[in-house]
This record gives sequence, C-alpha cells and structure tokens, in this order.
Amino acid sequence: MISRQQAIARKRKRYSTGKPCPHGHVCERFVSNYACVECMNIKMKKFHAAYSRMWFQKNKKKARASRKAWYLRNIDKVRKFAKIRRKNNPASYMLSATKHRAKSLNIKFNLTIDDIVIPKFCPVLGIKLRMGKGNTVNSSPTVDRINSKKGYTKGNVAVISHLANSLKGFATAAQHRRIAAWMETFK
Ligand SMILES: [Zn+2]
Repeated sequence: MISRQQAIARKRKRYSTGKPCPHGHVCERFVSNYACVECMNIKMKKFHAAYSRMWFQKNKKKARASRKAWYLRNIDKVRKFAKIRRKNNPASYMLSATKHRAKSLNIKFNLTIDDIVIPKFCPVLGIKLRMGKGNTVNSSPTVDRINSKKGYTKGNVAVISHLANSLKGFATAAQHRRIAAWMETFK
C-alpha cells in the first residue's frame, strides 16, 4: 500500500487507499486526479467505443472498404490466428462464429462467453466432443438453439455435437418420436 504523498515523493502515477471507490472497485487511484483506475478504464472504454461507433456511422463505406482490404492483405494471418484461437479458446471462437451466423440469418443474438459451456461429451448422443481442425466433423461442438424458432438468446442455447445438431434440425420432439417409430417398423 502506497499513500498519495508517498506516490508523489516516489514520482509514481498511482497510489492506493485500500478502500473501495463509490463503484466498489478496490484498486489504485491516479495521483493526478484521485480517480479510481478501474472506473477510469471503464470510462475510457465507453468513450472510445462511442467515438468509433460515431466515426463508423459517418464513414461506413470507407470503413467497410478498408476493413475488407486489410482482411484480404492479411488473410493468412487471420486464418492462422483463427486456428490458434479455435484451439486455445474454443468457447470464444464459437461465440463469435455464432454471432456471425445470427447476423447472416438475421436472428436475435444476445449471448456472452458465459453462455458457451462446452461439455466433454455431447449431451444428446454421448459422443466425445472435439474441436475440428477447421472443418466441421460429427463430433465438433456446435451451438444449438434449443427452440429453433427463437434466436441465439440466453437460456435458449446448448452446446451439442454437430451430428446431434444437424439431426435435430428444426423438427419438434414429437416429430422426432414419429421418425424413430417409423424407423423401428423396419427392424
Ligand atoms: Zn471505481
């Protein structure tokens, strides 16, 4: 713990009080303005986000063109990074893939990383879930919309195998029962 006076004496930019800020952050304060470091981070993040949103709204065409150009210039890097991310942080990878999917299907999306819980085994078929190497295989974990009429929304998703997900499709449980019953008549 270093007081503000000590911090000044040691030419440090931050000091600590040991007490929570009005927002409950127990962290360092800036010598210059007494501000809580965490509050300041949040404020700056919000400011930058708002600013870049505003800039994007005004410069949509330019922004899209430059984003695309950057993507094409760095396509190898992007792919390599995606591969590493898929391996090291599958949930984060799946979250953004799902977000893209929701956008292209024009359906609701409000998931966060906490909603992507990847079990060891597919809860439907019991097969071991494995991240594919870029290609989707039967045992790849996929984000299923429990009720396929609803979007990728909190409480409406489960991570199941690609096989289970594609078999499930948009059929209802009653329809699946009928399919199973029909298949069994041929046994
Ligand atoms: Zn704070």
